[in-house]
Amino acid sequence: MPLLPRRFERLKAVLNCRMSDMTILVEHVEKPHNLSAILRSCDAVGILEAHAISQNGRTTTFNSTAQGSQKWVQLHQHPTIESSIELLHAKGFKLYGTNLNVNAIDYRNCDFTGPTAFVLGAEKWGLSKKATKLMDKAIFIPMRGMVQSLNVSVAAATLLFEALRQRESAGIVPQNGEGLSKELFEKVIFEWSYPQVAAWCKLQERQYPKLNREGEIIDKLPRDIKLRY
Ligand code: SAM
Repeated sequence: MPLLPRRFERLKAVLNCRMSDMTILVEHVEKPHNLSAILRSCDAVGILEAHAISQNGRTTTFNSTAQGSQKWVQLHQHPTIESSIELLHAKGFKLYGTNLNVNAIDYRNCDFTGPTAFVLGAEKWGLSKKATKLMDKAIFIPMRGMVQSLNVSVAAATLLFEALRQRESAGIVPQNGEGLSKELFEKVIFEWSYPQVAAWCKLQERQYPKLNREGEIIDKLPRDIKLRY
């Protein structure tokens, strides 16, 4: 079935609000329901891409908690904490490591309007010592109950929505695609609209075909390529 104009408009409307300067990095968060809930919150606030370091190179799995958000928030997997941090620093992100120790700062006293990466740790052990050392700032969410910590996905949602709130107050939340470069916007809208063609182009090492205003592919493609979205 070809892409319907209504569907294309919906995809564009969501991408218009995406931000490439806010992200999360999760270190060894392995439970599918936690990772799924985190990606769903990323989608809700308008994050374009997320990052994960996976234990023993295990493939990440999601469950129904994600509600399909893994299709709309690309999760980049990294083999080590060092390589992920190097990449995020090179992209200009400030890394906020979540840490329950006494030297961390209350998250409400931080400014998340600049390029921000929240780094969250494993369900049982929290952030590793190695990761903790590499952070730009240690932050925590104050707790007033008997239990010492939040579920990791709840902590992620709390931080993401605080960052969104700050950006809304500052009037810098994108509404017309200004959260991404033009090239990135065109790349992602193609991948969202025609995932199968995008996968084929990647395999063939070809550039994505151009789309017209209605979201139709202008270029001629081989007949066996499925145009389903
Ligand atoms: N025993 C672990 C520790 O001491 O870090 C608890 C890990 S907690 C269940 C899992 C992750 O959720 C943490 O690494 C952190 O990323 C996040 N988290 C949970 N509660 C938090 C809080 N109050 N402030 C900031 N992050 C929190």
